[in-house]
Amino acid sequence: MPEPAELARQLAAANELLAARGRALDLAERRLADARTDARGLARTNEKLNATLGTARDSLVALRAELDALATPPSSFGLVLAVGEGTADIATGGRQLRCAVSPEVAAEELLIGARVLLNEAMLVVATAGDTPSGETVRLVEVLPDGRLLASGASGEELVLLAADTLDVASLRLGATLLADRRALLALGPVPRSEVADLTLEEVPDVTYADIGGLGAQIEQIRDAVELPFLNRELFTEFGLRPPKGVLLYGPPGCGKTMIAKAVANSAGSHFLNIKGPELLDKYVGETERQIRAIFTRAKEHASSGRPVIVFFDEMDALFRTRGSGVSSDVEATIVPQLLSEIDGVEGLANVIVIGATNREDLIDPAILRPGRLDVKIKLDRPDQAGAAEILARYLTTRTPLNNGDVAPADFQAQLVEAIVGRLYARTPENEFIEVTYASGAKEVLHVADFVSGAMLVGVVDRAKKAAIKELIGGGPRGVRLEHVLSACAAEIGENEELPNTTNPDDWARVSGRKGERIVFLRTLFGSRALAT
Ligand code: ADP
Repeated sequence: MPEPAELARQLAAANELLAARGRALDLAERRLADARTDARGLARTNEKLNATLGTARDSLVALRAELDALATPPSSFGLVLAVGEGTADIATGGRQLRCAVSPEVAAEELLIGARVLLNEAMLVVATAGDTPSGETVRLVEVLPDGRLLASGASGEELVLLAADTLDVASLRLGATLLADRRALLALGPVPRSEVADLTLEEVPDVTYADIGGLGAQIEQIRDAVELPFLNRELFTEFGLRPPKGVLLYGPPGCGKTMIAKAVANSAGSHFLNIKGPELLDKYVGETERQIRAIFTRAKEHASSGRPVIVFFDEMDALFRTRGSGVSSDVEATIVPQLLSEIDGVEGLANVIVIGATNREDLIDPAILRPGRLDVKIKLDRPDQAGAAEILARYLTTRTPLNNGDVAPADFQAQLVEAIVGRLYARTPENEFIEVTYASGAKEVLHVADFVSGAMLVGVVDRAKKAAIKELIGGGPRGVRLEHVLSACAAEIGENEELPNTTNPDDWARVSGRKGERIVFLRTLFGSRALAT
């Protein structure tokens, strides 16, 4: 048995050993934990390194691509002039080359005029879409072999090859084309709002015989336009300068357009019908361009020996007195443009300008000076005799009439008389409006004061329609008195020529009475409620 002291010592030693093991264990655990933490840290670092490496690799790739791009020789653009077997004739950089075509290029895309890409070996490697820009030329003639004779900006003539995509058959002489001058290729039409849109009539089919009344005005305009045109030598001999233009003015629907068309018909001339408000474009300079284009067009046609009438309808919309501020300041440039065009018509006896307006008071006086639109012709509303003449143009003995025992000619005359009587009667029934002038004087205006050719045509059309409806409904055939009378009533009630505006100035214009200002209006007819 060991000594107790020995025992105690051994126990102490054992305890110490145990404690030492515990400490060693603790240490080992701590080390393990540290090692784990370290391992996690390392893993993170590793990830970071990987990511950095990845980014570095990407930038390297991008750099290489950039370097490659920098090192790639440029491709040239070229235009196809002709296509052969595996080759194409290409215009590029002012030269013409016969180039091989890469098999990757589809044959159907290789059209004359197509834009292609050429590599450094001048191999056609791709097509490159339309040619977006170029010079414009004007088509003068399509040659029998399909090539185009065109004129450049300074009038020089060029013979151009037409691109396959250019529909030559649809081209109008004088059309604007996009061209590559160096390749001598016409590539396509330049879409512009052309004068063509402003309606060119070959020779209008209205004749003087279609116009009712207005005999004096017809004579005036014939003297002004036809006489000098048909007797040019005499005019030169007598030292008389033919007028360049005529201004027709008067209320709407009273035959201004008809007369202008009849002049054109009688002279066998082209008729360019320009509607003033349509020409007024919101883009700066566009109206001026159109005016230039109109006269270029007129001159082109005139050079063929046929006269051309340039008809400006509603001229007041375009050529208002400068500085009137009515249509902002467009007048400031449009009026001079027209003046210079009219002045330029000098050498072209074949171009005649006819303007029409119902506001001649608004038109810039410079346009009406001698040497310009110096012949002014007034077209009034038809009087009773004039109205009868107009009606007789539309209601003839050939019109199906329900004339009973009466001879057709007599019946037709009766109908005309009935319409005139109904519209022109100064009866209370026909009172239309009461105007009060600045002086305080009052005047009652009747339907008669507003009759226009257009209104008369409206009456006849209504009567005819009523007769047709009656016939379809199983009734008798032909126009009767009741038809024309109810047509008159309907036309008076609904006629759009009758102003339904409250602006006294408009009334002064429509009624054709000038001088005194109207300050107040009172309708006497129907349900129109007008007041100022
Ligand atoms: P505007 O004076 O406004 O130019 P238009 O000449 O266009 O008038 O006339 C409008 C329509 O009215 C014509 O198409 C025609 O049917 C008819 N008209 C007007 N005046 C006459 C007339 N004197 N003779 C025959 N028809 C006329």
